[in-house]
Amino acid sequence: MEYDKTKFKIWTWKNPFMLHWMINPGIVINELILGQRIPKTILVEKNTAKTLQEKTKIPCPHCKTLHSGLKWAIKSNAFRNWFGLYCDNCGKTIPCLTNLTSYVILGLTFPIWYWFKNSWKKSWLEKQPARYRNLDLDNVPNPFEGYAWIKQGLYWGIWMYVLMTLLFPIINGEKLTFINALIGIPIWTIGGLGFGYTMKIVNGKKQLNPKTK
Ligand SMILES: [Zn+2]
Repeated sequence: MEYDKTKFKIWTWKNPFMLHWMINPGIVINELILGQRIPKTILVEKNTAKTLQEKTKIPCPHCKTLHSGLKWAIKSNAFRNWFGLYCDNCGKTIPCLTNLTSYVILGLTFPIWYWFKNSWKKSWLEKQPARYRNLDLDNVPNPFEGYAWIKQGLYWGIWMYVLMTLLFPIINGEKLTFINALIGIPIWTIGGLGFGYTMKIVNGKKQLNPKTK
């Protein structure tokens, strides 16, 4: 599918945000448990003073519809997208990235889920159209606006602390020491705040030069 490069920046797996999504092991929680997915291709409108989530367009490769990214920014649709993002125009799913750790876990557990996959997908697909009816896309809050980035950042930090400091040593067969558990707290507090603030900046409205308005 070809896109208008004068109008959009095109994000694929080579974009740092997308690469981070694939590499960070913590994302496995978002993907496999929460069902939060990132499409393989994202278009970002150029030269507008909108927030990132307002500028984001998600193309459906099946019917060529350019969906507003806000469809998946609202809380009820941001999660439970295990089989991909549902296209409410053609009823197919928009292909998404897969995090490397998710990929390994899915590979290892393949004999378990393989037998249920089709019936799961069928019942999932049946529930999708209702999720996209009567969406109010004009009032989607930016999750990082004002001071909300602090909450979002700390929330992310807690997940990372549990995963990287507490769970990973256990998985690796290392001993979790009290000192390491203690050191992890300030590291992931600062890490989380850094993440939240970065997201606030990335999501924020760009000031357009008044002369160009
Ligand atoms: Zn479609």
